[in-house]
Amino acid sequence: MQPFSYARANDVESAITLVAGDPGSTFLAGGTTKVDLLRLGVEHTDRVVDINDLPLTAVDELGDGTVRIGALARMSDVARTPIITERFPAVSQALLLGASEQLRNMASMGGNLRQRVRCTYFRDGVSPCNKREPGTGCSALEGLNRGHAILGVSESCIATHPSDVAVAFVAFDAVVHTAGRDGERTIPIDDFYLVPGDAPQVEHPLAHGELITAIDLPPSPLAAGSLYLKFRDRQSYEFALVSVCAALTVKDGVVADVRVALGGVGTKPWRARRTEETLRGAPASDESFARAAAAELSIAAPRPGNAFKVAFAERAIVRGLRHSMNGQAA
Ligand code: SF4
Repeated sequence: MQPFSYARANDVESAITLVAGDPGSTFLAGGTTKVDLLRLGVEHTDRVVDINDLPLTAVDELGDGTVRIGALARMSDVARTPIITERFPAVSQALLLGASEQLRNMASMGGNLRQRVRCTYFRDGVSPCNKREPGTGCSALEGLNRGHAILGVSESCIATHPSDVAVAFVAFDAVVHTAGRDGERTIPIDDFYLVPGDAPQVEHPLAHGELITAIDLPPSPLAAGSLYLKFRDRQSYEFALVSVCAALTVKDGVVADVRVALGGVGTKPWRARRTEETLRGAPASDESFARAAAAELSIAAPRPGNAFKVAFAERAIVRGLRHSMNGQAA
């Protein structure tokens, strides 16, 4: 591992100053991904600025009912916070289905949103990879791509975004708060993630030294009946092949409102807007759910190794909607 120096920030302002003023510096929170990538030689830094002392760990309800999650709150703490389990059960479920208990105790919410892809070619440090080394090519296009994305892909990159909780956040229109040298700003979470296009190395619209300070979940009555289903090769400590966050309300047998987002299939946490648009006002039935799921996957661009994900995701959407409608865990 390349040697680097270490600094510790005591407040948000000094953390931003330390990193924004030095192109070779980077933030360090839980370190559960970053330290791996530094060890592997996939990421390089001259200095890490430890931000774990910053006062960004609270989970609070604001006056208008918004739930604000501090960027340094730990995954395991957020998953068990009553306001999350009661009002956003899918968020809690997604957190508890991610990583392992040890990692969830360390990993921060802000770090979770910014975790890098799990593509083998990205992480091996030597294969051609446009994300790691722009312009070198994408080894996954004709290589091993069983776990890769089928939505939001480009000829430059097909890596799947690995976060679970970001899928639930996308479903419920979370907002990311940041602070940087140019002040504070808010970014709708769907805009916080960029599809690869021809610049897969650019994953977020953030300036160097811009720090995530909080994530807001706006009030959503729908979310209280939400669920998160994750399908993977083994039942623990594994990334999703397909996951779905679903919530819906039904009035007189008709879908009144619905939210669906997908994980494991998109280059970003994928809001299934075609599914939602197809379902609003439609009969709440398996036939409608299947039609709405097919509408979303009609834009999929699979490779031979991951073509199975198309039907897999369609069935996951139907199952998520059915169980959400019935108000029961799957
Ligand atoms: Fe790199 Fe993306 Fe291709 Fe993986 S899919 S090798 S991360 S460019």
